[in-house]
Amino acid sequence: MQFELEQHHRDIPNDELILEMRRIAILLNRPSVTIDQFNEHGKFHSTTLSRRFGSWFKALEAAGLEKTRNLHITNEQLFENLTTVWLKLGRQPKYQDLTKDNSLFSAGTYEKRFGTWRKALEAFVAWANEGINPERVSPNPSSNQQRRTSRNINWRLRALVLLRDGARCQLCGAEARNGATLQVDHVIPWSKGGETVFENLQVLCHVCNIGKSNVQLEP
Ligand SMILES: [Zn+2]
Repeated sequence: MQFELEQHHRDIPNDELILEMRRIAILLNRPSVTIDQFNEHGKFHSTTLSRRFGSWFKALEAAGLEKTRNLHITNEQLFENLTTVWLKLGRQPKYQDLTKDNSLFSAGTYEKRFGTWRKALEAFVAWANEGINPERVSPNPSSNQQRRTSRNINWRLRALVLLRDGARCQLCGAEARNGATLQVDHVIPWSKGGETVFENLQVLCHVCNIGKSNVQLEP
């Protein structure tokens, strides 16, 4: 069934894909559309367009939109992406790991921004360490419970927990390199009063996170 869906997407005419890009540019009132924006608002996934046109850059070109390339990427975005790649690989990413399949941005983008790949990784760790302070929330007078933190786990905290725990599930030991999908989650659930602080966060696999009791790894 999945293959049928894939096939279906292959049949979408180029014109329709281009119109969808333009529609979203108009919707957002922007001269260009990022991959994230497209995936949030578009009818199709950005990979359908990247594959059809060769790259996102070429898809923008075909749609007559502004080719933003890497001009407006913030350090924050680069570090968030690095956290995702790290979780996905299950280890510290190497220069050659930043392929199109793994990463939104190329290793060259990091190199240009930070000088060398090593310096990019150092900047990433420094950035993560700034995140030790959780997001504070102002006390809600309508609630009896006084929360110190918001439920949202920001990217810095995610990165820090990843650096501490490694890319393996803290409950069952599943590793990203063996196909586990890893997430950062609360030890004491936020709904039960657990705060969004470094000490109350851990790396979990998707299976443990949704609370299944019999954990099985992919063969
Ligand atoms: Zn697990």
